[in-house]
Amino acid sequence: MWLQVSLLCLAFLTLLPHGRAQKHASLDRSVDAAGRCLYTFTAAGPEQSGCSGPGGQPQSDGVLARLTLLEALVGPGGVSLPDAYSRAVRERDRLLGEKETLTRRLGELRDTVAELSREAEGLRRRGACRQNDTSGPTGHENTPAADAFDNGTYQEMKAEVTEVAASHFIPDGNRSLSGCGELLAVGEPELHRTADAITGKYGVWLQDPEPPEAPDSPESPVPLYTNQTVWRIDAVGTDLRRLFAYEDLEQFSRGFPMKVLLLPEPLESTGAALYRGSLYYQRRRSRTLIRYRLAAESLAARRDLPGAGFHGQHPYSWGGYTDIDLAADERGLWAIYSTAEAKGAIVISRLDPESLEVRRSWETGVRKSAVANAFMLCGRLYTLASYTAPNTTLNYVFDTASGAGRAAAVPFANKYGYNSMVDYNHARRKLYAWDNFHMVTYDVTLSS
Ligand code: CA
Repeated sequence: MWLQVSLLCLAFLTLLPHGRAQKHASLDRSVDAAGRCLYTFTAAGPEQSGCSGPGGQPQSDGVLARLTLLEALVGPGGVSLPDAYSRAVRERDRLLGEKETLTRRLGELRDTVAELSREAEGLRRRGACRQNDTSGPTGHENTPAADAFDNGTYQEMKAEVTEVAASHFIPDGNRSLSGCGELLAVGEPELHRTADAITGKYGVWLQDPEPPEAPDSPESPVPLYTNQTVWRIDAVGTDLRRLFAYEDLEQFSRGFPMKVLLLPEPLESTGAALYRGSLYYQRRRSRTLIRYRLAAESLAARRDLPGAGFHGQHPYSWGGYTDIDLAADERGLWAIYSTAEAKGAIVISRLDPESLEVRRSWETGVRKSAVANAFMLCGRLYTLASYTAPNTTLNYVFDTASGAGRAAAVPFANKYGYNSMVDYNHARRKLYAWDNFHMVTYDVTLSS
């Protein structure tokens, strides 16, 4: 009905000047002296056309007749002009609101495109951006090493590594499917998900090995998440706050998150860990550790890790801002990092999972920048020799029980050539890794 009324109004306005022209224009034909036909078109000017016609019919009579005709066409069930006008105003306001929303979204999309462009440019230039020695002094937020990367908006590759020569192999002893033991073998990677955007080139994905069985806070009446829940953070970008939750591995493979949580502070590194219902991570551009309670979606603890290098001071050879790598295993929660005092050697600290306080620390004999990644398994640190070599090894092990380390040579496959994260899940007895857009797991075999 609204469309019908609009068309009638339009027709009325269109026909009005035409009707006037019929009353005040004429076409004459005559023959001139040479015998040619002359056609003369005469039209009244604006002032003349506003006057009454020669027949004495007032102009208002014509308008009244047209209004009568319009009302007859609209009919008794039609829409009154005031109503139609109100609807037009409402429609206009709605369209203006939509325009404002679309303009805002366009701005956001432009910001995203600009950020991704910077990321892509950064990745292209990464080889030139990591010339500085990262073993310099630590302990200050604005050290030269940190300042050197002030303009870097991405985590990137640093260098290939030279594998540590294995002095001896871990013996192939009895195998066990439960309890603790030494790591004997790592299986082939099993693919679970492939990222489909540049933001997924590297990141961290995990499952909680020990989710709380009861609600972990009064705000959460039921445990929302289980040991089936899969968690994922894409680590390409500058303001990493989005934590994707998937119901289980199947939904994770299909790419359907059930929820997206927004972290209270931005994250750095691919070294986050999940443990007993909390996400533990390093706050961006700091040595501050954050404990984020998942069910309550709230900050549970934050504490500086004393002396820890950050933001490119002591990264893995992979070279992203992997200065602080958190890990959970059968023995608790750990931080893998380095300090100025340790001169770049890997330091392991066992943390209080509630308060994040350091309970005890060990200094190892391997430089952090000389290995590609590390994880904890049964209180032992294992380091990965290369993040790119398709056939590399776990090349070093440090046992916190004895305080001694040694070389190792457990074969490990980087199937996709750019492994940015390796973490161990003791409940599933699997390694989780993020290898060049690919999220994979590895089965592990332990000694009895
Ligand atoms: Ca790790």
